[in-house]
Amino acid sequence: MPLTIDLKNTDTRDALALRVKAVSPLPDGQKPSLIGMTREEMSAVLSDAGIPERQVKMRVQQLWHWLYVRGVSDFAEMLNVSRELRALLSERFTIARPKIVDEQISEDGTRKWLLQFPSRGAGKPVEIETVYIPEEGRGTLCISSQVGCTLNCSFCHTGTQTLVRNLTAEEILSQLLLARERLGDFPKKDTPQGAIVPSEGRKITNIVMMGMGEPLYNFENVKTALLIASDNEGLSLSKRRITLSTSGVVPEIYRTGEEIGVMLAISLHAVRDDLRNELVPINKKYPIAELIQACRDYPGLSNARRITFEYVMLKGVNDSLEDARDLVQLLKGVPAKINLIPFNPWPGSQYECSDWEHIKVFADFVNHAGYASPIRTPRGADILAACGQLKSESERMRKPERLALEAMMIAGHGEE
Ligand code: SAH
Ligand code: SF4
Repeated sequence: MPLTIDLKNTDTRDALALRVKAVSPLPDGQKPSLIGMTREEMSAVLSDAGIPERQVKMRVQQLWHWLYVRGVSDFAEMLNVSRELRALLSERFTIARPKIVDEQISEDGTRKWLLQFPSRGAGKPVEIETVYIPEEGRGTLCISSQVGCTLNCSFCHTGTQTLVRNLTAEEILSQLLLARERLGDFPKKDTPQGAIVPSEGRKITNIVMMGMGEPLYNFENVKTALLIASDNEGLSLSKRRITLSTSGVVPEIYRTGEEIGVMLAISLHAVRDDLRNELVPINKKYPIAELIQACRDYPGLSNARRITFEYVMLKGVNDSLEDARDLVQLLKGVPAKINLIPFNPWPGSQYECSDWEHIKVFADFVNHAGYASPIRTPRGADILAACGQLKSESERMRKPERLALEAMMIAGHGEE
């Protein structure tokens, strides 16, 4: 349901206008984007632009439809909006897509986009990666939430890149809009106005916040973007098809349950605090017991709505049968599935992936204990799109480094 707001109340309007400014401070001359604004924020900026109060609600509704149902990226395509208003809107705002620096398509159909967003404030333009993974009967878009990451998980490539900045709600949502556009997921341009636009047959059926960055360290923007992605008058992705992955920021896990309501994935990776402190250092702040309690308290869990626990398989580190036993014990009573991720190596990484046979034994044990434990097949390895390999921007890999990594990936694949 759209929220309503009293736009005659100047305090509220000023507060909203401030928030709009605060979330996306732009250098002079750069127009703010209407994408990624809540309905209230959009109402406030439209009123500020001089749109009569009695029209604002209707205009927001129209814009919402064009942006999120039709997926237009040019005001000129908004056919039921008058020429004058389109001119006013394009003078003040933008709805353009981010710049595609690179688009790669893997042999297995996985696609990876390197996208550039303009600078905010004094910073430089930034680059992030978004990955599309087609599978039988579904297609998943893996979205980034930050440029780099502040958390230094020892097995993660993104973790070696220091945080450059949080992405705005617009930038998070733009990844979905751009991918849908590139994949032909929006209705054809000549679809008549008012036609019912079917949601079946979409290429992107699911989204996962599993790209670069820790989404719960960018809570507000991730929340705004996901609420827009799941808004049923727009992109209308079911919240059951949106999964947010976190390394375990406990207070924000509670907020995610209360304020966003999407599915949760936890990067667990170890079942003892001493080892998890090493692999996922945020564990020192929020140890395993607190993390599992937050999972137990997550609203709406059932056998059909389970938490995913991600567990990267590191040879000789966390992959023993004793670990498997402790894992089952730890998750007792939590509606859970366990996603075993073969470690994806990167240059300079100190770990090796567990042997395939070993992973299978581990998976069988967990399976017998009653937990679904799919082994995540590495996807898009030839284009470095697999988990933990995303790293971009100023620190993009030099060519020799990249070739070395590709060789490692191909060798790794041969073993399977
Ligand atoms: N920061 C969030 C989401 C992004 S990481 C989080 O940590 O959950 C997405 C998943 O990839 C996480 O489970 C992460 O632990 C895992 N991952 C990171 N590096 C990896 C690597 N080199 N090989 C396999 N999985 C990795
Ligand atoms: Fe950040 Fe997640 Fe990588 Fe840890 S695993 S460094 S939280 S992106």
